[in-house]
Amino acid sequence: MELLRDTFLEVNLDNLIYNIKSIRNMVGKNVAIASVVKANGYGHGANSIAKDLMENGSDLLAVATLNEALDLRKNFPRYPIFIMGFTPDRLLEYVVKYNIIQSIFSYNQAKVLDGYGIKYNKKTIVHIKYDTGFNRLGFRDSKESIDEIEKICKLPNINVEGMFSHLALTNKDEDEKQYNRFKNAIKELNNRGISFKYTHIEDSISAVDYPEFRMNMIRPGAIIYGIKGFHHNSLDIKQVLKFKTKIYNIRKINKGEGVSYDFLWKAERDSIIGTMPFGYADGYPRNLRDKGYVMVNGQKAPIIGVICMDQCMVDLTDVGKVSEGEEAIIYGDGTDGSLNIHNAALLGETNKNEIISKISMRVPRIYIRDGKIVDIIDYIG
Ligand SMILES: *Cc1c(COP(=O)(O)O)cnc(C)c1O
Repeated sequence: MELLRDTFLEVNLDNLIYNIKSIRNMVGKNVAIASVVKANGYGHGANSIAKDLMENGSDLLAVATLNEALDLRKNFPRYPIFIMGFTPDRLLEYVVKYNIIQSIFSYNQAKVLDGYGIKYNKKTIVHIKYDTGFNRLGFRDSKESIDEIEKICKLPNINVEGMFSHLALTNKDEDEKQYNRFKNAIKELNNRGISFKYTHIEDSISAVDYPEFRMNMIRPGAIIYGIKGFHHNSLDIKQVLKFKTKIYNIRKINKGEGVSYDFLWKAERDSIIGTMPFGYADGYPRNLRDKGYVMVNGQKAPIIGVICMDQCMVDLTDVGKVSEGEEAIIYGDGTDGSLNIHNAALLGETNKNEIISKISMRVPRIYIRDGKIVDIIDYIG
């Protein structure tokens, strides 16, 4: 367990457990929780958090892609793993072979899975994706689709365990229309004698804001990581990650000197400049130039000049006495004045999930439990 870089992500497993318990508490025991751990658990390390999630309230693990599912499967032979996204026909055999739960939205996909079901002598579990207006994936809301879903449910070697949809979160009126379309489709299928173990339409924001649309499964991502995007209701959660680094170099420059590419920042006074060992290849947004800051010594040190691939510079002139090797907080929870994920997203003109999921594989992850380091994962070290 050696840390090969001074720029690292700190993942607080106690906060993660706190959050999943809080979500479980919110929904009660009759709603299943599919913890969304796509994009390497929104940067937190899917394999490193899966066990804590599954042992503290999560019922299954949800990912977007086949390779994410297979990566988890290598480490967790028994957890239910659900691919919410599309898997091309040529790869569906892996789904069957490795007991993955697959989202499908055509009779043809179901036929392919049914065929492999014969070969492997298994019933593959699927969830039907139903499009209620998002216009991304899923059966379009129509009578023909209901007919096709009915046909799928009659295939012998697949087990249609669930049906799901996704909200656009435009506003409550639009969301309610989507929810009603979904409910009507389910009702139509029920009238034909078809029912599902799970029906689900909610992500993090809707799970908190619309308790009445929860049905019997939710698919929370952001809130697991302590990221708050909901508006109407509240949920007690704690940010799980902190992104930290150390000042590598401190130099004095004269008024009028430029810093970084194109000299887009020029010193208006004699200045003290700190060079930081992180850049956009670590997932830090390049457009935070002249907007972002790191926290040094309890003070804000503004990022100045163009952010490079691996490094960036900060103005330490007003920070007081600092020395090389001193810790700096890139993203914190905000309680100490550090840039939290919410504000990083605002400044970067993006959303919080993009900020955290982009923290790259070059950044080692340090796992903290009970205030102690319990693991260090370096994907490339
Ligand atoms: C990513 C994703 C989620 C989780 O979204 P959050 O906003 O992070 O809760 C839920 N459902 C689907 C289909 C997704 O792709």
